[in-house]
Amino acid sequence: TVGAVAINSKGNIVAGTSTGGLTGKMEGRVGDAPLVGSGTLADDDVAGISATGDGEAFIRWRVASRVASLIEQGVNASEAILTVLNGMTNKIPGTSGGCIAITKDGEIGFQWNSEHLAWAYVKGSNMTIHYGVEKGEDQTT
Ligand code: ASP
Repeated sequence: TVGAVAINSKGNIVAGTSTGGLTGKMEGRVGDAPLVGSGTLADDDVAGISATGDGEAFIRWRVASRVASLIEQGVNASEAILTVLNGMTNKIPGTSGGCIAITKDGEIGFQWNSEHLAWAYVKGSNMTIHYGVEKGEDQTT
């Protein structure tokens, strides 16, 4: 899965999620990626969110919607993501995943409770790319 979220100088927010789905998926399966509020969400008044992980669980737990709600309530984006993912895992054991988000204020968030998440971001006109895969990692190019 590859996801992207962005905000421009006018405050327009976009989010996109592309995936091959899960290995061994049923023919005709629709995962969470194209479902707004599950694997993808963009709302200029709140945030852009894109997710990867066990799609059926993301749909049932309405992950992107829940993350947006917490952000709307003032929770920091990364904390909002981890709270929702851990809630999903508690409710539906054995599931996990990760999310990236950008808020209407330009705050960047990314978190995961799966093993890894390959993430990267660029902020402002400074084209430094921050990226990582493991918790606490922050490499730059
Ligand atoms: N969420 C995707 C799906 O269930 C899979 C993935 O993110 O790897 O279709």
